[in-house]
Amino acid sequence: MSEILTFSADETKPDRAAVFENQGIPAGAGIPQDVEALCDAALRLLGEVATPRGILAQVSKPDFEVVYDGEGRNEPRTPVGDIFGRADELALFAVTLGERVGQEITQRFHANDLALGAMLDSAASAAADKLAELVETRFGEAFPANGRVGTSTGVLRYSPGYCGWDISGQRKLFEFLHPERIGISLRESFLMEPLKSVSGVLIAGPKEIHDVEMSYPFCDRCDTRGCRERIRALLAE
Ligand code: SF4
Repeated sequence: MSEILTFSADETKPDRAAVFENQGIPAGAGIPQDVEALCDAALRLLGEVATPRGILAQVSKPDFEVVYDGEGRNEPRTPVGDIFGRADELALFAVTLGERVGQEITQRFHANDLALGAMLDSAASAAADKLAELVETRFGEAFPANGRVGTSTGVLRYSPGYCGWDISGQRKLFEFLHPERIGISLRESFLMEPLKSVSGVLIAGPKEIHDVEMSYPFCDRCDTRGCRERIRALLAE
């Protein structure tokens, strides 16, 4: 299976709380009216310029092993390395909001409209995350149809550059997936162009395989501990 996915602007509109969180405003904090209005403007602008799309391709475990090994720069033990062998299904994915979003952000900064530029940047980051979540959901929904997995199955995404999977892994991922087909290219630094893009692997399998401990050496240097919330949400489903 390999398919190009399209999304409506409404589907990818991020929650305001996620936008404010990217601005460093914690959930539940009182938001001044002018900041609310700025968020409205950023979301409206994002809806006008975003062209969200994605690409998804199932991958066998032997092929994924090659992708994951990448340039040989991963940490010796990682969550992905520990999990993928126990998966039922794997798929590579990439999603993007399209090039106009980045251009619009740059334009706002050049025009000295820093507040709107920063809010648009936060909104676009939240929308890119939401887009990746949508692909996760679509991949999970594809399974009941082919009878491969049931309600105890959980799908989570993992990306190069996080949790010990070196960002140089992007090279092999691009060689297998060809996200150029939806307008994403890879810079020498392994960052994607457009910047508001997300790539990685979707791992589907018994929910408990994702429930890793924070016992990896690099977890000590992790500011976000983002795995905890994702695992909690998955196990609660
Ligand atoms: S604590 Fe941080 S580095 Fe460790 S697994 Fe969780 S998200 Fe990854």
